[in-house]
This record gives sequence, structure tokens and C-alpha cells, in this order.
Amino acid sequence: MKKYYKVEQMKKEFIDTLVIGAGQAGIAASEHLRHHSIPHLVLERDRIAERWRTGRWDSLVANGPAWHDRFPGLAFDTVGPDGFVAKDDVADYFEKYAQKIEAPIRTGVEVKRAVRNEGRQGFTVETSQGTIEANRLIVATGPFQTPVIPAIAPENDRLMQIHSADYKNPNQLPEGAVLVVGAGSSGVQIAEELLSAGKKVYLSVGPHDRPPRSYRNRDFCWWLGVLGLWDMPAAEPGKEHVTIAVSGAHGGYTIDFRQLAAKGMNLVGVTKSFEGEKVHFHADLVTNINNGDANYLALLDAADEYVERNGLDLPEEPEARHILPDPECMKNPILALDMQEAGITSIIWATGYAVDYRWLEVDAFDEKGRPVHQRGVSIEPDVYFLGLPWLSRRGSSFIWGVWHDAKHVADQIAIRRKYEFYETSTQNKELATSSSF
Ligand SMILES: Cc1cc2nc3c(=O)[nH]c(=O)nc-3n(C[C@H](O)[C@H](O)[C@H](O)COP(=O)(O)OP(=O)(O)OC[C@H]3O[C@@H](n4cnc5c(N)ncnc54)[C@H](O)[C@@H]3O)c2cc1C
Repeated sequence: MKKYYKVEQMKKEFIDTLVIGAGQAGIAASEHLRHHSIPHLVLERDRIAERWRTGRWDSLVANGPAWHDRFPGLAFDTVGPDGFVAKDDVADYFEKYAQKIEAPIRTGVEVKRAVRNEGRQGFTVETSQGTIEANRLIVATGPFQTPVIPAIAPENDRLMQIHSADYKNPNQLPEGAVLVVGAGSSGVQIAEELLSAGKKVYLSVGPHDRPPRSYRNRDFCWWLGVLGLWDMPAAEPGKEHVTIAVSGAHGGYTIDFRQLAAKGMNLVGVTKSFEGEKVHFHADLVTNINNGDANYLALLDAADEYVERNGLDLPEEPEARHILPDPECMKNPILALDMQEAGITSIIWATGYAVDYRWLEVDAFDEKGRPVHQRGVSIEPDVYFLGLPWLSRRGSSFIWGVWHDAKHVADQIAIRRKYEFYETSTQNKELATSSSF
């Protein structure tokens, strides 16, 4: 029996730092807290890395190669470094990682409510298994918590409609054509899988970046790293809603919408509205595809410049610059479609996620409910966030990025604790150091 699963149940307990969520963010937090000898406990309502196990479709593999999409302390053993790890193997990896660092994780415990104590330090946290008092909270409940389906979704009993979070495989869908709304990494991969399974697919393509899977013998993850693009502190102005279309499927390939169209995918612009059986699309398909191409070519340019500047011996790849001619769906974009006539029987909404912090009753959010923080350090003292997109940089919501953010957050907690110990050296020492591991 694994040690960290067998934690004695208590009705009320004290802990210095309570981490909520045991995905990659919570595990990274635990590792760095341990390095600082900060007593902590990680609560997870399901299993470790549950979202990698059950919150993704069956065939999903990591979008980045195994050498890149991992924590520094452990390599994947299911594929070679340049391979793309299957989602269940990613979940197993995090289980193994948690074991390796002896993370004090308690699974099957949901945090229902957390409130700041009045007149004394810390928080009272109500969980599905009793109350815990904690001096501080690290909220690691994920960047992608609640699937979002836009309000335009039609009320139409004829159609099966699911969010990409609930998509598993093509067999789940009824006979007939499918409209996939959203062409980020999820939408485009799902659409491609459905097309390969013999379905007629309409893919609604919005603004996107589409880096080359690899160029001059280096994966795009490497290029983003050496070009400093993972470290961008915020999305470029005007590109806040631009998604990234990449795939590690079939050994990894560049997402090329023109190629998908050549294979038979029906591309349409952003989905605008529904009226009975009629669906309307914005006239932005050509712009979106051309902008995606420009983004692709800009990365090749930046890569070439980098090679030149540093005198690297990487093979030239002029064929990567070949852009296929406009497919029919770009020459004559579909702006409206009768779904019944087109045989559409299902819609997959690959339209992203929102966060849900209703359980966290502290003053740490803006008017839209988004955490206000600096590199994860909240405006509400002793509350920290991890794993959010752009928490400190572009890489923050990804596997390797959250590990570095977690280090920063743990460092900040260690600094703060030093002050606390100075101020409260004798009276509160017991409370401040109590631990369950
Ligand atoms: C389809 C898809 C593919 C992705 N592919 C990649 C990839 O290839 N490479 C990469 O680096 N990143 C990828 N990501 C991004 C990111 O790595 C994942 O979203 C990852 O799951 C985020 O980890 P996390 O620990 O921050 O959050 P999560 O994995 O969401 O973990 C949060 C945990 O908190 C728990 N929790 C939530 N609320 C409570 C509560 N109240 N009490 C107790 N527990 C709670 C949840 O059960 C969950 O287990 C992908 C994301 C998606 C959606």
C-alpha cells in the first residue's frame, strides 16, 4: 500500500500550508514546499492527476515531446525522449512522481469551503471529510475546470451536443456529420480523428497560432524555448484570444488547415449564431487561416535568424515554407448551412474552460471572478495560485512551466514564514509547525 494514501482521518487538524488539487500543479507545489521543509498537505477530490485520466479523450497524447513535457526530477519510461506520451501514462507518471517525492496527498477529499479566520491567522477549510485549519492555501485546482459552451448553442433535440471535455472517441457520436466548434489543439485533433474515422466534419476555425511541429530537426517546444517565447509574460496585445493548434498525435505533425481541407475537412469561420436548423458563420475563415500561416512562417523566420546568429549546424528545410493553395472552402467560404440538409447530427464544442472558485470565500478576485495575483502570489495574503494560464509566463499552465512557478510560490512562502517565526517565535510555534507527515 502506498504510504501517502494512508493518512489517518481526523475531524479537525492543523497544517501550515494546504494545497488544494493534486494534478501536476499540486505535486510541483509539494516538491518545492518539501525542499523548504514547509509542513503541508495536498487534498485531491478524485485521484492524482485525475484530469489526465478521465478528463481527456481516449487517444490523446501529450502535445509536447517527452523530453520537454515533464518535471526535471523524472523522465518518462513509456516512450523515448522524442516520443509523445499517452494521456494515461502522463497520469501514471504523476502518480509515480508523487510517490518519489513522498508527497503528502490525501485523495478522495473535496474542499467545499475555505474562509479566512477572524482575529487570528489562517483559514478554516471545510472538506468532505472534516475541517482543517491552515495558515495558508495554495490553490492548484487547474487552469481548465469548468467546460464552457457559449450561449449561442442551439436548443435542438435532434442534435447531440457535447463539450470537448466529454468527447472520448468517434463511436460515441451518432451516425452523420459533425460540427466541431473551435480549432485549438483540442478541436483540431478531435476533428482530425473524426475525419479519419470516416465522418463528414465541419470545423469552425477561429484565430489561432500554428507553430511547425518541427523545423530544422528541432521540435517547436525547443524553438519556443531558445527564442524565449515560453517566457513571454503575457499574450501580445490583441492576441489574448488566439489559441494554439498543435498535436503530438501519430508521432506529432504540423497542423495545416489547408492540408486538412485537402483531406476532406469542411472548414468554416467562427460560429456566429443558430436559427432553427440554420447555422451562421463569420466571414473570417480566410483571415484566420492566413494569419495562422503568417504565424507559422514568422516562427520559421525567427528560427532561421537564431541559427544564423548562433552559427548552428541545423539542416536547412526550405520545403517547410511551401504553403498549399487556397482550398475550395477558402475560395467560397460557407457563411450559412442548413444542418439537417448537411447531415449534421452532432456538435462538439471545443470552446475552452472557465475557473470556478466559489468555494474560496476570500477577497482574491476581480469583478470577473479571476484571481488577482503576481506570479501566483494573491492580493489576499496567504493565498497562492498555481497552474493558471499566463500565471507568470506563457508556459505556466503546462507541465514543465508549473514546476518553475511552484518553486517561486514555495520560495515566497518560505520567506514569509521566516518573518512569521520572528514575530511569533514562542506563542504560535506549535501551530506553525504542526504537520501530518
Ligand atoms: C486536452 C488538453 C491537453 C493538454 N495537453 C497538454 C500537454 O500535452 N502538455 C502540457 O504541458 N499541458 C497540457 N495541457 C495543459 C495542462 O497541462 C493540463 O490542463 C493539466 O491538467 C493542468 O494541471 P493542473 O494540476 O494545473 O490542473 P488539473 O490537472 O486540472 O488538476 C487540478 C486538480 O484539482 C482537483 N480539484 C479541483 N477542485 C478541487 C476541490 N475543491 N477540492 C479538491 N480537489 C479539487 C481536481 O480534481 C484536479 O485533479 C492540456 C490540457 C488539455 C485540456
